[in-house]
Amino acid sequence: MEEMLESKHERVINEFESVTKDAGRVQTETLKRILEMNGEAEYLQSLGLCGRTDPESFKACVPLATHSDLEPYIQRVTDGEDSPILTGKPITTISLSSGTTRGMPKFVPFNDELVSSTMQIYRTAFAFRNREYPIKNGKALQFIYSGKQFKTRGGLTAATATTNVFRSEQFKKTMKDIQSQCCSPDEVIFGPDFSQTLYCHLLCGLIFSREVQYVSSTFAHGIVHAFRTFERVWEELCTDIREGVLSSRVTVPSVRDAVSKLLRPDPDLADAIYEKCSRLNNWYGLIPELWPNAKYVYGIMTGSMEMYLKKLRHYAGDLPLVSSDYGSSEGWIGANVNPLLPPESVTFAILPDIAYFEFIPLREEVEEAEEEERIDSSVVYKELEPVGLTEVKAGEEYEIVFTSFAGLYRYRLGDVVKVKGFHNSTPELQFVCRRNLLLTINIDKNTEKDLQQAVTGATKLLSDSKLELVDFTSHADLSTDPGHYVIFWELSVDSDNEEVLLSECCDQLDRAFVDAGYVSSRRVGAIGALELRLVRRGTFHRILDYYLGLGAAVSQFKMPRCVGDSNAKVLQILCDNVVKNYFSSAF
Ligand code: AMP
Repeated sequence: MEEMLESKHERVINEFESVTKDAGRVQTETLKRILEMNGEAEYLQSLGLCGRTDPESFKACVPLATHSDLEPYIQRVTDGEDSPILTGKPITTISLSSGTTRGMPKFVPFNDELVSSTMQIYRTAFAFRNREYPIKNGKALQFIYSGKQFKTRGGLTAATATTNVFRSEQFKKTMKDIQSQCCSPDEVIFGPDFSQTLYCHLLCGLIFSREVQYVSSTFAHGIVHAFRTFERVWEELCTDIREGVLSSRVTVPSVRDAVSKLLRPDPDLADAIYEKCSRLNNWYGLIPELWPNAKYVYGIMTGSMEMYLKKLRHYAGDLPLVSSDYGSSEGWIGANVNPLLPPESVTFAILPDIAYFEFIPLREEVEEAEEEERIDSSVVYKELEPVGLTEVKAGEEYEIVFTSFAGLYRYRLGDVVKVKGFHNSTPELQFVCRRNLLLTINIDKNTEKDLQQAVTGATKLLSDSKLELVDFTSHADLSTDPGHYVIFWELSVDSDNEEVLLSECCDQLDRAFVDAGYVSSRRVGAIGALELRLVRRGTFHRILDYYLGLGAAVSQFKMPRCVGDSNAKVLQILCDNVVKNYFSSAF
């Protein structure tokens, strides 16, 4: 059996090696397949492709498109028009992207091809991961949550992409093939109440603690959130295991029934867990202590997840952190095929048969060019022509554009990536940030990455104190004259006597934005002093709850790192919970 599995994973690696050796040709073929499959779609027909499927005709006829360009078409699909609008085969399912940036989910088409590519990514990443960190047949403690499903006005099923994937038939089979069966029964994953599901995931993880081979969630936030919760509920979990009776906090009947079936009174296990938890120092190394056979911790740890790495390392102790793959509700992009790399330098090798990729070059000199204009809060660069997958250069940054099997053509995802190198002839990308400019008052521009670096720098000042940053976001406050940057921080403990330290953090944040526009505006007073606002503990949890209420799923949740005026509700939650504020005296 083990041997058969071995050869299955080797086969996946061989296939990957073969398509990446000939990435240029595979891309041309992939485009041809997409266009043949969808040639009768109204969108393509209207652009005069007339059945041509070569890259040159495609680029000449089909314009680059953002989500808002395609929204009218997607709306018609969502409303139930069954003519071929974006795809040859009608779309019957819609995904809701997390919509972090604009504060509300976007609708995107979902189909079987997306399920297949998701499985291909999972299998590929697993095959490479398993070569370095082999696991035995067992279980995975996976903090996964299926959000709610609903019907659109036109009768299509709509849910987040992760929900659509978890509900697909292929998901279970793939999880079995890659030895990643979840400890919790389906009723838990599909339970309607997020906190009850989380509690049950923890409980099932403890029941099967000896079998657990790795611990994961889609995003690192999910793992950190789970163990922060564990710190609060561990004694209750021990009681449940000792007595064999599920806590009354789990009220959903289907979830109660399914988990109760797994519970037997087990005082020995309860004592062992109790003893281990009592012995831990500030929960350091919690994961390997309670799950002694776990080989690694797995989830997306890049981009906006970097902020949770410190806490994740703390819980993981000496276990390796392996960062997972790169994709979106709209489609997958690449897999982590170098699992030994630390999360800070992880790259994603593009699967050239998963979609047709193009890359808009973003060069420094372009950024500085005079043609630069400002629309809303985003900088529009003088556009360079997109280049193909095999034409990108190592060391350069690009905006990613793809054409998928699910009705998106030359679609601008809005992500900035950097080419770190190549795996055979396919690029290995590093995720840089969302392209949208985050913070801007006038001539300054600071991205998600700049903000992330500023916050990382300032939190270093906290390392000798008992304060720990739980989460953060920012806001460009234009209601004051001049406008100024506001950074919201939630700390793990109340900070009554840390005035001096927090003022220093505030100054440090202000100094950390080194963009010339910011520095010069600060010097002449065209931007006011940066303000650090501390929010009450639990505020970011409220924001999470707010997004869940909108239909987001925890599995896909990404905290917005900048909250604009248009995201009024989240801004309100933040402002209502401010307990203290500091103004920088750095300038
Ligand atoms: P969603 O809207 O929920 O489909 O999220 C898709 C977005 O999540 C992408 O466009 C990226 O900005 C971000 N994302 C997905 N995977 C990764 C990753 N591995 N590293 C960093 N950011 C990611």
